[in-house]
Amino acid sequence: MIKISNVSKTYPGGVRALNNISLQIEDAELYGCIGPDGAGKSTLFRMIVSLLIPDAGTIEVNGLDIVSNYKQIRSKVGYMPGRFSLYPDLSVKENINFFASIFNTTFEKNYHIIKDIYDQLSPFSDRPAGKLSGGMKQKLALCCALIHNPEVLILDEPTTGVDAVSRIEFWQILAGLKASGMTIVVSTPYMDEATLCDRVSLIQGGEILTSGTPVQITEAFPAALFSVRTRHSMYSLVEVLRQMPEISSAFLFGQAIHVVSKDMTLTSEMLQAMLNQSQYEEIGVSKITPTIEDCFMYLTDQTNISHG
Ligand code: ADP
Ligand code: MG
Repeated sequence: MIKISNVSKTYPGGVRALNNISLQIEDAELYGCIGPDGAGKSTLFRMIVSLLIPDAGTIEVNGLDIVSNYKQIRSKVGYMPGRFSLYPDLSVKENINFFASIFNTTFEKNYHIIKDIYDQLSPFSDRPAGKLSGGMKQKLALCCALIHNPEVLILDEPTTGVDAVSRIEFWQILAGLKASGMTIVVSTPYMDEATLCDRVSLIQGGEILTSGTPVQITEAFPAALFSVRTRHSMYSLVEVLRQMPEISSAFLFGQAIHVVSKDMTLTSEMLQAMLNQSQYEEIGVSKITPTIEDCFMYLTDQTNISHG
């Protein structure tokens, strides 16, 4: 279990990276920290792995305090930092050997832990890590984070910049590790990856907007949501929608505009009629179920209103 209690961190220079964060991650849980660049994800993860000390608050990992028990924590935690952490001139096998040696173990001794992942890498075992594809690099970095048989795995944006197929494969590997009983905390800026986690926290500006299962979060969406499509200019329609008193927000979402109304009684027919009155013909309006991204946008909006 990872217990984060009232943690704050301000960097020298005055950037407040985390503001009074509390959350608890259970054993064998796959937990996601979802948020854009600058949200504070890496700062939180560096603290969980004892590389950075909070200004205020406490963090316990499997009963160990990250400040007073940092040595024990490091043997129990596997950490995959956001930026490339491998030695590009060393081969695949040499990188794993190196990380094993740091923890006084060997590739052979703990091979069983990484076997499924390493088998996908083994055709390239003599290739320098720097010459691997993005997806292969991530798999190698994961092997290196796992080779000392950690109880807890902390993965900072493992799928950022990785191709779509490798992203799916990577999440399948995580599901397998979770099934083996490992506690996994993963950060991502990709909102769609939230649904692959047991629970998530949506993080923005050093604060947790909300936490829960992906279903709990989407079901708690407190407004009516519509998808609006048009063959006219999407941008001008967004502006028209934003002018309407019934509409609290409107933003581009892929090929459509997502429109939020605090009025839960608003129907798609009513919105359609309002838009037809504004000279918008041939538009498609449908009421939709929110995604995690809709929830994120909504909660960010609320935070801006209350802070602004
Ligand atoms: P994320 O990983 O979600 O992108 P970070 O934890 O890296 O977020 O950063 C949170 C905030 O702290 C950002 O505003 C970032 O610019 C700032 N920050 C991160 N690391 C440092 C540092 N070493 N010194 C000063 N500011 C930093
Ligand atoms: Mg980061």
